[in-house]
Amino acid sequence: MERLRLSLEKLPADAIVVSHLPNIRYLCGFSGSAGLLVIEHARATFFTDSRYTIQSQHEVVGARVRIAKKGLLRAAGELLRASRSLRRVAFSPAQVTVAQKEALDAAVFRKVRWLNDGGAIEKLRAVKDAGEIEIIREAAELVSRTFERTRRFVRAGISELNLAAEIERDFKRQGAEGPSFETIVASGERSAWPHAHPTRKLVAKNELVVLDQGAILRGYCSDMTRTVFVGKAPRRIKSLYKAVQDALEAGKAAAQPGVKAQDVDAAARKVLRRAGLARYFTHSTGHGVGLEIHESPRLGKGDQTVLTEGMVITVEPGVYIEGVGGIRIEDDIVVTAHGAQELTTAPRDLIEL
Ligand code: ZN
Ligand code: ZN
Repeated sequence: MERLRLSLEKLPADAIVVSHLPNIRYLCGFSGSAGLLVIEHARATFFTDSRYTIQSQHEVVGARVRIAKKGLLRAAGELLRASRSLRRVAFSPAQVTVAQKEALDAAVFRKVRWLNDGGAIEKLRAVKDAGEIEIIREAAELVSRTFERTRRFVRAGISELNLAAEIERDFKRQGAEGPSFETIVASGERSAWPHAHPTRKLVAKNELVVLDQGAILRGYCSDMTRTVFVGKAPRRIKSLYKAVQDALEAGKAAAQPGVKAQDVDAAARKVLRRAGLARYFTHSTGHGVGLEIHESPRLGKGDQTVLTEGMVITVEPGVYIEGVGGIRIEDDIVVTAHGAQELTTAPRDLIEL
């Protein structure tokens, strides 16, 4: 919150209204589903509803708690209206609906000058402190262990949904709060769909299986993809796999402090281009990971964010060939002064089951 106040001085703004729940959790610790945070230079006020009276007392740090009786937006608007010194108020237009903005305006009543916060909170969140990195490391190691324990279930005859269930059950058994996104299990031709939901389709012999999975541990996400082959992989699959693995390593090697996010993407893409596979790599190379599964920066074309020490990102090149299948390998890494440090520990070589 103190670091955010420094960004407010630069805008300049007298206060900021925070509505995005992961931002609220980051700033004051509240993990529930209804909240609004108003941060001024000298104080902060957290609004929630009566379901969270007890929980908010346990969780909220650095802000006074107000239980709103007639809606959070109205309560926050009344606070802004009551304080004459609050003239310029920042908010994030990307995270407030038109209806919410209208409710705020109606409650504030007198004219407040609304400012775009310019992603100030997301910029802070992109750089993790040592404590956050340790939690994400634990979450990444947990998922790596789950992979080691559940890969024995990958065989002809098991359904994609059943595999996903085994993976998610193992997360919780290890103490994770749950999956950080709906686990992707895609087999055979369906592995060419980068974001396929698991279905009742049965895994068959001589198929690729893409397993993209992540766990939430103490609020923080991890994200890992491994692709396995059921049976003995033909030469073509092996060479595709090798190209993706080389792209993964090139991406990780490029993730140095001072490098732009788009250059990590370019480094991974170049490897696949040289292998004649550029047109099969249809998504960006990675993304920040933290309280949310996808956060700043985005490792893709046009993202000028300069990587700095403490950023935690995924590197996840892939190739997807219609009628053949898909291969993706994804690791979580932290950017350090000495380059990328891997948080994911599961093996990366092709596994034939
Ligand atoms: Zn993933
Ligand atoms: Zn990812």
